[in-house]
Amino acid sequence: MNIQEANFRHRNERREASLLDRGLTFAERTATVAAAAAAEAEEIDQTGRFPKAAIDAARDRKLLGAQIPVEFGGFGASIHDIAEMCYTLGRACSSAAMIFAMHQTKVACLVRHGNGSRYHEALMRRVASEQLLLASSTTEGNNGGNIRCSAAAVEQHHDEISLVRNATVISYGAEADGIVTIARRNSDAAASDQVLLALTKENYTLQRSLAWETLGMRGTCSAGFELKAKASAEQVFPEPYEKIHAHTMTPVAHLCWSSVWAGIAAAAADRAQRFIRKAARGAGGQMPPGAAHFTAAKMSLTKLRALISANLDNYAGREHDERALSAIDFQSSINLLKVEASELAVQTVMSAMRACGLAGYRNDGEFSVGRLLRDVLSAPLMINNERILSNIASSSLMSGVPSSLRD
Ligand SMILES: Cc1cc2nc3c(=O)[nH]c(=O)nc-3n(C[C@H](O)[C@H](O)[C@H](O)COP(=O)(O)OP(=O)(O)OC[C@H]3O[C@@H](n4cnc5c(N)ncnc54)[C@H](O)[C@@H]3O)c2cc1C
Repeated sequence: MNIQEANFRHRNERREASLLDRGLTFAERTATVAAAAAAEAEEIDQTGRFPKAAIDAARDRKLLGAQIPVEFGGFGASIHDIAEMCYTLGRACSSAAMIFAMHQTKVACLVRHGNGSRYHEALMRRVASEQLLLASSTTEGNNGGNIRCSAAAVEQHHDEISLVRNATVISYGAEADGIVTIARRNSDAAASDQVLLALTKENYTLQRSLAWETLGMRGTCSAGFELKAKASAEQVFPEPYEKIHAHTMTPVAHLCWSSVWAGIAAAAADRAQRFIRKAARGAGGQMPPGAAHFTAAKMSLTKLRALISANLDNYAGREHDERALSAIDFQSSINLLKVEASELAVQTVMSAMRACGLAGYRNDGEFSVGRLLRDVLSAPLMINNERILSNIASSSLMSGVPSSLRD
């Protein structure tokens, strides 16, 4: 057994021991949160309010700090554990699930890149003990999903830093206990010379600049804000954002988002199945004409789940190996995961809608697929697929076409 495997086993044993101490598995904890999320999902969508009951339940079940290592007070949950939670919550309420996924992505950056930094280790302890909810600020001005370029710069005066950022979108910004944001390293730095910094509520003010009146994902409350922060210089992560982006931010975001979208797709497929079963029962066992659309929904959901599973294994197998994380093939596949997963999720929900016909198109009734469709349509444009495809065009060209089926 090499050192990495030994560490992995040791962490797993400690995690399992800590779970036993607390008497509940992740599945049990997530089920409670999913029940709270499902109960308010319709109202969240109608009113566009924050899914408070679901996030409170996640706090109560200590899931906001699930990824924090045991030595800092968390459960040391793996990426597989977190993705499973995202999928389960996605089936219950898209907005609550996406909030959970975005928070877990920020926590992953803290866990992977905060080790050894006094401030970030203390923040890890706080996330675990106080169950702090962390939001993300990457989108800025008219820059859209061009995350690897920042306009706002960190200003440093001795040990203090300040930042003023025109944040076009910060999901649950008003409800979060902290924000993890990117910025230019300093006012002389190039747009791509970025740092990541962690802020908690006492460090910043938010002035609302844009409302969030959208087709779907309404409960994410992704309003725009002017973010003004004053903080200690040690709140800047020691490693450059370029590295954090490639090794953690992108892989974990894409795995968690995709799992949420798969959950939404599964919820739609579930409705379609119930509709087709009911129709078949009503027709003395005769399959209704829409049955083929349900089969198509199941087929694309199967592809989607397989794609996420393969990428989860691929990431988990290299998450402690910097060279392997930087490999062109891995970077290309983890970026393509987002593109493919978002398209497959939309395709699945559309097939489910067509299976249900008018009953799916209606906004009322037990087979309505409208909310799920509106929510999942955000997937291809949450960092636009076209932008991702054009960004990875040259690296795709550099990586070889596989010569064997499985390697
Ligand atoms: C539900 C939801 C929650 C979000 N939460 C947050 C959050 O918490 N924090 C945050 O910072 N951001 C958040 N965002 C914003 C997100 O990260 C992206 O920044 C945003 O979706 C991109 O917006 P855009 O389409 O206006 O911009 P752009 O990416 O600029 O795209 C605009 C148009 O240009 C096209 N385009 C762009 N580049 C190319 C290219 N190279 N080739 C061809 N066409 C191209 C796109 O396809 C699109 O049609 C959220 C978005 C959603 C949908």
